[in-house]
Amino acid sequence: MRIKRIPIIVFILAALVLSVLIVPSSVQAKPRGPSTGNTASVVTCHLPESNAEGLEILSNYYPGYWWDHTDLTIAVQAHPNASEDQLEAIHEAIATWSEVLDKCFDGAITLTDVTGTLKSEQKAADIVVHYVPRAGGVVFGGYAICGDHGCPNILVRSDLPPSLDRDPYEPEYLGWVTLHEIGHALGLGHATNLLESTDLMGYGWPDLGDPVLSDCDIDALAFVFAWLFEGSDLHPPAEGPYDCSLD
Ligand SMILES: [Zn+2]
Repeated sequence: MRIKRIPIIVFILAALVLSVLIVPSSVQAKPRGPSTGNTASVVTCHLPESNAEGLEILSNYYPGYWWDHTDLTIAVQAHPNASEDQLEAIHEAIATWSEVLDKCFDGAITLTDVTGTLKSEQKAADIVVHYVPRAGGVVFGGYAICGDHGCPNILVRSDLPPSLDRDPYEPEYLGWVTLHEIGHALGLGHATNLLESTDLMGYGWPDLGDPVLSDCDIDALAFVFAWLFEGSDLHPPAEGPYDCSLD
């Protein structure tokens, strides 16, 4: 009897040793996302591909221009002569980004339009879209002004820059410009193949096709907000450009 028990005890001991070896690796925390390279794994949506080769990361050029929180607010300040159609186009552009962020990051990054709420709340908005006549130079359609933390002020001009040759200034085009500028405000730079790309962050639209809020725009934002998806301490985005061929 005693002799027969030994293999059983050995078996139990072996099982204990094995379980000690195996269990820790099986309960290891799943990585929440890489700090560099492919960030597509944290994205919970499927957007169209774009023809951007890569996307510049704004904070690489303007250190400090990235967000340290994720419940972002945005307000529109328009000059009194802005038409209803134009204002609607701007708010629609904001709504488009809000929906895409919600869907693609499962609510982890939000953009809330606080226009028309309490004055104090509007004033404290992270991002303000200033809709102003004749802002900037001759070819100017929109511009993101970056502060020491983020790009809180976006200027979108309300009269048509003559050089754009798009008279009248259709609300659709104004909406596209707003989408592009909000992309900057969130931390995206331009497409590396700037003039050929119809990505939202390229300059190829509208001549080469409608702008595309793309897969790569969202993947690059996951790269910008890497601190969030890693669950790590706050840190600036890594060195770009983000390579759009990664996913
Ligand atoms: Zn731009």
